[in-house]
Amino acid sequence: MTKKQVINIVLLGPPGAGKGTQAVLLKKAYGLLHVSTGDMLREAIKEGSKFGKKIQAFMDKGELVPDEVVTSSVIKRMAKPDAFSGVILDGYPRTRSQAESLDVSLVEEKRTLNMVIYLKTSEKVAIERLSGRRICPECGKNYHVTNIPPKTPNICDTCGVKLTQRVDDAPETVKNRLVVYENETKDLIAYYEEKNLLYQVNGDLSAGELFKDIAVLFKSEGLIDDNSDE
Ligand code: AMP
Repeated sequence: MTKKQVINIVLLGPPGAGKGTQAVLLKKAYGLLHVSTGDMLREAIKEGSKFGKKIQAFMDKGELVPDEVVTSSVIKRMAKPDAFSGVILDGYPRTRSQAESLDVSLVEEKRTLNMVIYLKTSEKVAIERLSGRRICPECGKNYHVTNIPPKTPNICDTCGVKLTQRVDDAPETVKNRLVVYENETKDLIAYYEEKNLLYQVNGDLSAGELFKDIAVLFKSEGLIDDNSDE
């Protein structure tokens, strides 16, 4: 399958919708840069800076970190040359104000947002995915106890180290993240619907099925070649 043009997309959906998983698949298939604000913020925390400590307090509780912090990081990342052939924004924007800041930056940079893919996901599936998620502390690879199990239980296939659980995947924090999503992020669906950019897919599907549906959307919008064999 061949990419016909620059593809800039936003993946939207609640925590546990599978945005990160789809981003990894789309990156591999179409050579797009995966920009995950959650990953960027976790990196900052790992570095142990004062800034990292400040944002950790928000993240551990499942609250959003302040808009200006996230927006400036995303805009800086998108200005690097490896972002010019296309970007998958995963976890950004999360508020209407972030969406407006992104719009301003895209106009300034003469770039276009091609689609916003909304992974509509039931609460039951989202909770089940988040509670079973495990991460390799070395390479960052994501697993799931039943959906994507490692070859040896609880051990990373690549690094051989013990997998960990994200602090914010603890049940109480998951509940709060879903409430925050409901309050803050849902507004974005209407925002992008008004702009005719919103494309809804079924986030309850398996990763492989959902990836196929997204490829169909890309084809229908002329972003990838029609005669691809995906
Ligand atoms: P995620 O990895 O996308 O689930 O994000 C984990 C956490 O990072 C969220 O619960 C927020 O605390 C923070 N975060 C990630 N993206 C954003 C964003 N766009 N705006 C504010 N906070 C964010």
